[in-house]
Amino acid sequence: MPREYLTSIDETIPRVHPHNFNKAVFILHDQLNLGAWPEWIRQEKPLLIFIESRKKGEELPHHKIKAAYVLSSMRHFALSCHENGYPVMYHSTTGHFDDGLKELIDLNQTSLYYMKPSEWDTRQRLQNYRQQAGTDRVREIPNRFFFADPEEWKDKIEPGYRMEYFYRDMRRKTGYLMDGDQPAGGEWNYDDQNRESLPKNHPVPDIPVVEPDDVTKEVMEMVSDYFPDHFGEFHSFPYAVTRHDALRLLDDFIDNRLDEFGPYEDALKTGDHKLFHSQLSLYMNNGLLTPREVCEKALHAYHTDDARLNSVEGFIRQILGWREFIRIYYEAMMPDVREANHFGFENKLPEMYWSGDTKMRCMEESIKPVISEGYSHHIQRLMILSNFSNLTETDPRELNKWFWFAYVDAYEWVELPNVLGMSTFADGGVLASKPYVSSGNYINKMSDYCRNCHYSVTKKTGENACPFNYLYWNFVDKQRDTFNDSGRVNFMVNMFDNKKSDQQKKEIRESSETFLDELERMGPG
Ligand SMILES: Cc1cc2nc3c(=O)[nH]c(=O)nc-3n(C[C@H](O)[C@H](O)[C@H](O)COP(=O)(O)OP(=O)(O)OC[C@H]3O[C@@H](n4cnc5c(N)ncnc54)[C@H](O)[C@@H]3O)c2cc1C
Ligand code: SF4
Repeated sequence: MPREYLTSIDETIPRVHPHNFNKAVFILHDQLNLGAWPEWIRQEKPLLIFIESRKKGEELPHHKIKAAYVLSSMRHFALSCHENGYPVMYHSTTGHFDDGLKELIDLNQTSLYYMKPSEWDTRQRLQNYRQQAGTDRVREIPNRFFFADPEEWKDKIEPGYRMEYFYRDMRRKTGYLMDGDQPAGGEWNYDDQNRESLPKNHPVPDIPVVEPDDVTKEVMEMVSDYFPDHFGEFHSFPYAVTRHDALRLLDDFIDNRLDEFGPYEDALKTGDHKLFHSQLSLYMNNGLLTPREVCEKALHAYHTDDARLNSVEGFIRQILGWREFIRIYYEAMMPDVREANHFGFENKLPEMYWSGDTKMRCMEESIKPVISEGYSHHIQRLMILSNFSNLTETDPRELNKWFWFAYVDAYEWVELPNVLGMSTFADGGVLASKPYVSSGNYINKMSDYCRNCHYSVTKKTGENACPFNYLYWNFVDKQRDTFNDSGRVNFMVNMFDNKKSDQQKKEIRESSETFLDELERMGPG
């Protein structure tokens, strides 16, 4: 693979020969924090190996901003390791990571260490490489980028074991927001205070933009050249790529947005796809920030009265609860869960997920920022994009792929459980108790989208009626077996059966059929 796009690395880091080192450590693109690696590495300063894999980049049409983020962060990290006195080897291969290692290392001279990858496929590749090379020459270090050890918990993952039980155990273990053995403020969960819509003209502080430097610009050129047809626009690059800048953004969130994170956690607003969300997932997911330091800064803000309890608890629950739980679910459910499709839907994704072109204001507002920045916030992902995919009877595996390549923070271990477990119910109820579906009412309550939409949220069926309205009841009707619980008829199924007239039912079915027939769809190819 040509090194024409590695000028900044080649000009700064002198070439070394791996066989001059008896120990080498392979660092993956999502393990960029030496503080999380074992102490001996910081003391002995062995050879650090970084590999850019072209094959990995080609497996899915990953957003160009995401590809640039991943590679630029890794290059900056390698450069900072070099500055800090580590011998560094930065390699690029047309193959996979294991191919790159085979190209580089003679294991008779050098023994290799790597940290267990979070993602399944890379893990399988490295474990096969290790088996072939000899487990005494290639050693696996447990993954230390999380709070919880999945081995301790993964046997519990089954229908009925909910995130809330796990989260309470993690609160007790870490002591976060605990008064002795009781939760701070007397409640484990302040969700009931965290469901406000955003008042008109309520100010929302901007997130600072980090301007791309020469290293990032070099990577951007390479990505445009190698992956011109990948998803997304590439006019700007707004993200931090160093720990130093990621820490600045963490402080900015704690100082300016954490306090109002809780109340407006579920809010949706035209023209703002971030609101009081932290936009820190991408930094935690590649190691620039650790989840522990993020939680501890939030806790500190609570203890110094700089942020209210319902905000801090809500924020910590997302990280200590959801993020950790999701990862344990992935460990317990892979690889079979990749094929999960409880409802048996086989449709491709609606075309609008590629272009953002639609008259549905809520969809447009949730897709366009993904195209331009690779990000939209949790409620847009869950209650708009996944909701619509469910109601349009889209194959959840198609949605899963889309979320994986379209978002800058997407790695399979965190994205897949959220899509196939939480938001589409594809796993049949292991992670969530019911499918996340709603009519336009919910979206109207939480947002200002409907005010400026071509469709009418108050109209239930027929031309110009909000599609969420009839599609929701169509879904409840068709998937009634999933809603009904152990022989008991669900409240919504009961509403459909007994509160809708035959004429209303007929109109719901007809409007849905017409909409679904006319919906343009498109696969990732
Ligand atoms: C369909 C769908 C797909 C998703 N795909 C991803 C993904 O690819 N990568 C990803 O990191 N998150 C994913 N999430 C979870 C969540 O939406 C994002 O973590 C969050 O929106 C990131 O933005 P933020 O940093 O501003 O989050 P905030 O709202 O500020 O939350 C704080 C942190 O909590 C963590 N968090 C919150 N909710 C979750 C969750 N459900 N699962 C795991 N961590 C959580 C994140 O690390 C996040 O940074 C997905 C959720 C859904 C419903
Ligand atoms: S009216 Fe329906 S389609 Fe339009 S923004 Fe509201 S919920 Fe979305």
